[in-house]
Amino acid sequence: MKITIHRGSNEIGGTCIQLSTEQSTILLDLGLPLRKDSKELDVAALTPDAVIISHPHQDHFGLIEALHHDIQVYMGELSKNLINATRMLLGNELLKNEIRHFKAWQTFAIGDFIITPYLVDHSAVDAYGFLIEAEGKRVFYSGDFRAHGRKSILFDKIIKNPPKDIDLLFMEGTMIQRKNDDFPTEADVEQKIYETIKEQENITFLISSSQNIDRIVSAFRACLRAGKTLVLDIYTAWVLEKLKLVSHNIPAMEWDQIKIKLSYSQHEKLKDNPDFFGDFRKRVYQHRISKEEIQANPSEYLFFGKMSHFRTINFYKEIKTVNVIYSQWLGYLTYKDEDYFGAEAMAGYRSDPQVNFVYAHTSGHATVEDLQMFAEALKPKMLVPVHTECGDLFDDFFENILQLTDNYEIMI
Ligand SMILES: [Zn+2]
Repeated sequence: MKITIHRGSNEIGGTCIQLSTEQSTILLDLGLPLRKDSKELDVAALTPDAVIISHPHQDHFGLIEALHHDIQVYMGELSKNLINATRMLLGNELLKNEIRHFKAWQTFAIGDFIITPYLVDHSAVDAYGFLIEAEGKRVFYSGDFRAHGRKSILFDKIIKNPPKDIDLLFMEGTMIQRKNDDFPTEADVEQKIYETIKEQENITFLISSSQNIDRIVSAFRACLRAGKTLVLDIYTAWVLEKLKLVSHNIPAMEWDQIKIKLSYSQHEKLKDNPDFFGDFRKRVYQHRISKEEIQANPSEYLFFGKMSHFRTINFYKEIKTVNVIYSQWLGYLTYKDEDYFGAEAMAGYRSDPQVNFVYAHTSGHATVEDLQMFAEALKPKMLVPVHTECGDLFDDFFENILQLTDNYEIMI
C-alpha cells in the first residue's frame, strides 16, 4: 500500500491523507487549514476513487466543494445532514458530489479497500476513526478523538477490544504540548456554567459551537439546576432536531426551559427551502422567544451562540455587566474578524469592565495520557503523528514513531 500525507503531518487542521493500492485510491479527510500560512493543496488535481470524511469539522471536510463533482464522498448520515443544513442556512448550494453514508462498526468496501468505521468521542458529533485493510496491510486512522467527553465509553470500548495487527497508525496529537487541567471533564464545564448563571443579574452568553453537543447538554443541565431558560438559535435547534434520530436523551426544542430565538435571515432560509426543512419551520415557530421577552427579564436566560453574536452582547452590556462564558479553544481569540467573524470583539471582552469574561472549556482532543493508552492498546508497528504542531515530541511518549512530512510517499 502506498501512503502520502498531502497535508496535516505537522499542523492542526487541513488534514488530507492518501492511501493507494495497485487499483484503488482513497483520501482520508479533505480539510480546510486552520493556519493562514498552511501550504496550498491543489484539490482539483486529486483523483481518488472516493473521499472518506471522519467528522463534520471544517478542518476535516471543508475542501469537498473544490473536489471534482464525480468523486464520491463517504461520511456519517448525521454529518451530511449538519453540513447541508449549514450550507442552507448560509444561503449556499448543497454539495454536488454524491454523498454516501457508512454506519458505525459496519464494514464497507471501496475498490480494494475494506473499511470499518469506529465511532469515537469528540467535540463534534458523528466522529469516526477508521480501520482500513488492503493488500494484506492494516492501517488505522484515529481521526480527532478524546477519552474525557460524555461519550468516553467509546474510548473504553476500543481500548478493551482494539483492532489487532495494525501495521500503521495515524494518530492525532493536538494536545501533545497542551494540558487540559483547568476543566478536565465536561462535568467541570457544567459546574462553571452553573456557578456563573445561578445569581446573574443580566443575561449570560455562552460562546461555543452548535455541533458541540456535550456543551449544549452542559448548558441545559446548568440551566435546570439554576432555574434558567436556555435560548438557542435556529441552527442549533436544527442540530438537536437531527440528533433525535440517534438519541432521545439529548435536549430538544420541545423541552421545558428551552426556547428558540429566531433571526430574520435564518428564518427566511427555512421559508425558502420547505422541502429540506419540512415542518421544522412551523414547529420552531411554536417554541420561539422574542427579543422583547428576553429584555423584560434578561437574568432568566442563558444564550448559547457563536462569536458572531457580539452585537447582541454589546446591547446587553450597556444595561448592566454581562457574563460571557467563552467555551471553545482560546486560540480563536487571536484570529482576525475576516477569518472568524466576531473574534476581535470577543478578544476585547477579556478586558472590558462591562463584561464578566469567564473561560469554561474542556478539549475535544485526547490528553497525552489517553493517547498513550490508545497507542498501547493498538500496538502499531509504525505510529505516524498527524493533526499536531509538535510531531517531534511523539518520540518522548510513544514507540515506533515514523515522522512523515507532507507529500512524502512511503510503501508499507
Ligand atoms: Zn475535530
